[in-house]
Amino acid sequence: MQALAIMYHDVVENGDFESSGFSGEGAHVYKLRREDFVRHLDAIARATAAVSTVRKLEGRPVLLTFDDGGASFHHPIADLLESHGWRGHFFITTDRIGTPGFLTEAHLRELNRRGHIIGSHSCSHPTRMAALSRAELDREWRDSISRLACILGDPVKVASVPGGYFSHEVADSAAAAGVEALFTSEPTAAAEMRSGCRVLGRYVVQRGMSPAWSAGFATGSPAYCWRQSALWKAKRVAKALGGGRYLQLRQAILERKG
Ligand SMILES: [Zn+2]
Repeated sequence: MQALAIMYHDVVENGDFESSGFSGEGAHVYKLRREDFVRHLDAIARATAAVSTVRKLEGRPVLLTFDDGGASFHHPIADLLESHGWRGHFFITTDRIGTPGFLTEAHLRELNRRGHIIGSHSCSHPTRMAALSRAELDREWRDSISRLACILGDPVKVASVPGGYFSHEVADSAAAAGVEALFTSEPTAAAEMRSGCRVLGRYVVQRGMSPAWSAGFATGSPAYCWRQSALWKAKRVAKALGGGRYLQLRQAILERKG
């Protein structure tokens, strides 16, 4: 099957990037201002009416996903999605639940009740998920999923990979923890099965990208999807060559920009 999944992070009011989710310029580049996010959603609505969730994977569904577990998932993101009649996939870093800038247990229960999909984004958000041992991976998925299931009183079967560092072992470990749909950061519409778990790629929207990008991803427009895919492949080569150096370099560049 194919799916057009889009990855967002936090949406902040008044340009206050510290108010929700992880701090630091490396995290802030993924956050959108509320007024921009409103335009992105309007652009998706004009381009397609087929926003769906993993509960109903028919045709080539458009799936809206949000990583990290920031307080902005509750307000304003869920409200804005619901104003279009849509539901989101919210991926939670469980060690941060109830800490400043992140969702509380009560928020999670409310979002679940309102029909949004709550999933795991690991316990601790490791910088390089694919570099963990199998035992560490198992603990990240198992403990985060059981914590969420305990809070919600419902089974949790979806997850997204923190930092985009994916490997087959990351998927095998998630599948062993009961994950049935795992979202990566690979910009592709193709979904594949791995150990009984559906692995889905995602197109990322960062600060500074125009609403046309969200609409382009939601319609599978080659001008947008292929462009991001080509860029990502070039970056993957840089990461493979540089390993940990890539992250240091990225941080240094972001700090200079900030
Ligand atoms: Zn993340």
